[in-house]
Amino acid sequence: MVPGRQVVSEKNDKAKKALLTALVANGAGEIFELDGYAALGMAGSLLAPLTVGQTRNLPHGSELMYLPDRNPLLLNTKTGKLETLQENPYEPGEVIFPVAAFNSPGYVITRISAYRETQTSQPLPLFSYGAVGWHKKGFRSAVVLVDPETRQDLRRMPRADVIAGVDRMRLQMPNNRLRAHLDHCALTYGCPAGKNFFLGRYEAPLPTSKQCNARCLGCLSLQQHSGIHHSQDRITFTPSPEEIAEVALAHIKRVDKSVVSFGQGCEGDPLLAAHVIEPAIRQIRSQTGRGTINMNTNGSLPDRLRPLLDAGLDSIRISINSVREACYDAYFRPQGYALADVLASIEIALARKKHVAINYLNCPGFSDTEGEADALAGFLQQFPIHMIQWRNLNFDPLRYWKQMDAVASSGEPMGMEILLQQIGGQFPGLKFGYFNPPKENFKII
Ligand code: SF4
Repeated sequence: MVPGRQVVSEKNDKAKKALLTALVANGAGEIFELDGYAALGMAGSLLAPLTVGQTRNLPHGSELMYLPDRNPLLLNTKTGKLETLQENPYEPGEVIFPVAAFNSPGYVITRISAYRETQTSQPLPLFSYGAVGWHKKGFRSAVVLVDPETRQDLRRMPRADVIAGVDRMRLQMPNNRLRAHLDHCALTYGCPAGKNFFLGRYEAPLPTSKQCNARCLGCLSLQQHSGIHHSQDRITFTPSPEEIAEVALAHIKRVDKSVVSFGQGCEGDPLLAAHVIEPAIRQIRSQTGRGTINMNTNGSLPDRLRPLLDAGLDSIRISINSVREACYDAYFRPQGYALADVLASIEIALARKKHVAINYLNCPGFSDTEGEADALAGFLQQFPIHMIQWRNLNFDPLRYWKQMDAVASSGEPMGMEILLQQIGGQFPGLKFGYFNPPKENFKII
């Protein structure tokens, strides 16, 4: 052992174990650090202080939020005790709230910001609530990176360029209602997928479906009687095959390694619009073999998926929160289909040598439990899919844990980092990521 090296490694070890200072917010929404208190992260039954080694600098583009009607749960570093604070200990009478991070795409959260509900707590809006703290003049976030691609990096989407792209497409296809819908998505909602279409890059969205046959707890486009606001309005019309093909071809013809995707946040499930999608795919493929035609779907209707794959759909990404039926049903609340149909869709696509990914809606404290990890591994053994897109579940975490606990016992969480390592080690050919890959990057055996 070289003595100097030992000193350096001990120093590094100490630095990694350093605790993050807690962040809280006041009623005006001002976020500040609370000296003498360390930030805590929670994952189901696990509760632990955040350290430098378990966190990284808050990814660019992430947003900090404060959680109304909730109290921050912190570690008092002088007493070593956990405390639930209602007011600022240094400013008596000043009410304080927990702070969480909504992290940029490509980062998987490993801990939820620790808090306790009050008697008046309403369900949280549809975001994920990652744990966050402060260390040496910077915010740090409890995340791991699974996809470094800058596809949705807002720094690369100047508004002036998006507007120029919108103007260009208005001239190119003035009467196309789908193009007009995407104008609104890009300019009003600031949808990154919509912006990329007008910027002529990566993946273009092709929303089509007004309806869905699931009732997901965290559906972004429709909430009924839940007390939660959906964040995007559903498309109100069904575009014609010609309108879909015109938008898709405009993107494919000008973008290298392009992807065009059915199944967006502003629609229901695209399998319910298969009657327009199938002829649209045939029109696209009659003009070009270029570009990847992808569908993001709940995979509920294998008989409707089959002809789409045969018409030229290159890849599917199936949304799933759990492969255990009770947990799947409790979140997706399927109407007239079952998890077995979703699995049949996966089998059909694999048999046709199509690229298959799952959109794995993960939440620390549930997804990283033993029960879930074993079920996921069993599923991957049976269905050799090509990719897991790890997506932080945008839903109130305490309410999600409660819903899942009510239908299945899952065991103790092992930590999302360990889950990722375990699954990655067991299935070395399986790709981890966040974005739909172009077919040039497929590895299908
Ligand atoms: S499958 Fe998609 S569109 Fe349908 S309810 Fe779930 S999130 Fe909403």
